[in-house]
Amino acid sequence: MTASDVRNVIVIGGGPAGYTAALYSARALLEPLVIEGISWGGQLMNTSEVENFPGYSEGVMGPQMMSDLRAQAERFGTEFVTDDAVRVDLSQRPFVVETGEETYRTSVLIIATGANARELGLPSETTLKGKGVSYCAVCDAAFFRGQEVVVVGGGDSAMEDAIFLTRFAEKVLIVHRRDEFRAEPIMLERARANEKIELVTGAVVDEVLGSEEGKVTGVRLRSTETDETWEVEAGGVFVAIGHDPNTSLFTEVLEHDEAGFLITKPYSTATNVEGVFAAGDVQDPVFKQAITAAGSGCMAALESERLLAAEEHARATAS
Ligand code: NAP
Repeated sequence: MTASDVRNVIVIGGGPAGYTAALYSARALLEPLVIEGISWGGQLMNTSEVENFPGYSEGVMGPQMMSDLRAQAERFGTEFVTDDAVRVDLSQRPFVVETGEETYRTSVLIIATGANARELGLPSETTLKGKGVSYCAVCDAAFFRGQEVVVVGGGDSAMEDAIFLTRFAEKVLIVHRRDEFRAEPIMLERARANEKIELVTGAVVDEVLGSEEGKVTGVRLRSTETDETWEVEAGGVFVAIGHDPNTSLFTEVLEHDEAGFLITKPYSTATNVEGVFAAGDVQDPVFKQAITAAGSGCMAALESERLLAAEEHARATAS
């Protein structure tokens, strides 16, 4: 294609939201182009087994599931560019999207660039990812039945994760770096009232400890006041210190919250710029699940199709 062609729909992002938006757009004959990123697939490429995506009754490996979603979008004619978008111009339609190599123009843009779970930044955390270190309690709690686990963080996610984990784990230790919590008082109260939960404040994880077989065996904690260290046994470490949405290309123009998550209209994926929709984790600081991302990708595609059809109709009746 040449730079002068205007696409109906460009989707930026190759995760569950992006591929679902592409699937629906392709089946509506909008011939979508997905700029899926150099490392397409999103957060699920770093996940081992996914047991909570409907349809996979036996579970599925994260990368396999992403290949399946991509193949389904491809089957109906989606085109893919395996490159990162590096610049967008949303000041007028058609919108402009640039990769390092090409410039594309599109009537409608669906942003599905996702978010990344914040990491502690420890080499041992990276080594033991998926081997006891997790960033999603809802996804992985069931693997820790009867075990002792650590949750890191002092926000609502940490409290919610800890409370959820008590359904499976024998004991949950919340480790928070300050004495004050960011979590809502009601969430903190619920955690405090739970007999299986213990809170440690003024401490950080200094190291995630692992066995020779490469499984988490515990953590070494360090006091933020005295620098004293001590070890705690645990089969799992749930890091719940927030998410960073991938929105730096858009935040100058699109409304976003303090953390950078794009703001969409209620019951909609529409942003403050007509013709720009946002789907998946990039606009969802709350649920952050593959299935909710896919659902909002579907919404974005349906809304894109409606907008394009209404504009087409308006053009036809005006002439
Ligand atoms: P958050 O509110 O940003 O909290 C992150 C927590 O992690 C903070 O306590 C922070 O400590 C800590 N932290 C950050 N970086 C750290 C590091 N490198 N090492 C150790 N600790 C670190 O994130 P969140 O809990 O994911 O919540 C995000 C949003 O979703 C919030 O608006 C929250 O209210 C909402 N949410 C709501 C619900 C609910 O209502 N049911 C559930 C989940 C999330 P400091 O406090 O010291 O900065």
